[in-house]
Amino acid sequence: MNGQQSTCDHHLPLPVLRAEPKHVHWRPTQSAKRFARRPHVIAWTCACWPIVYEKLMVGGSYLIRHTNQSDGSGAVPLESPPTRHEEADTLWRKILSGAAT
Ligand SMILES: [Zn+2]
Repeated sequence: MNGQQSTCDHHLPLPVLRAEPKHVHWRPTQSAKRFARRPHVIAWTCACWPIVYEKLMVGGSYLIRHTNQSDGSGAVPLESPPTRHEEADTLWRKILSGAAT
C-alpha cells in the first residue's frame, strides 16, 4: 500500500482483471443487522491487497465481503448479495482469477 513494495510473500498474486470482468453488485453491509450475529469468515485475501475480500457464511447464506482499503474513506465494507454456497464459491473463484470485480 501507499505505493511501497509489499514485504508480504505469503499471499496469492493480485488478480489481473479480464477484459470484461463480471461486475459484482456490491452494496452496503447488511449481514450483521439482518442476521443479528457475526458472520463466520470462511476465506479471506491478504490484508496487503488494496481490496480485501472475505468469504462469509451467515445464517446459512454465503456472501463475499469487499473492503477497499485504498480509497481513503475509512475502508467501509461492502457485500455481495447472499447466495447458496456453490454460487458464493463460484463468485469467489472469479474474483481471485480476475473474472469478477
Ligand atoms: Zn500479502
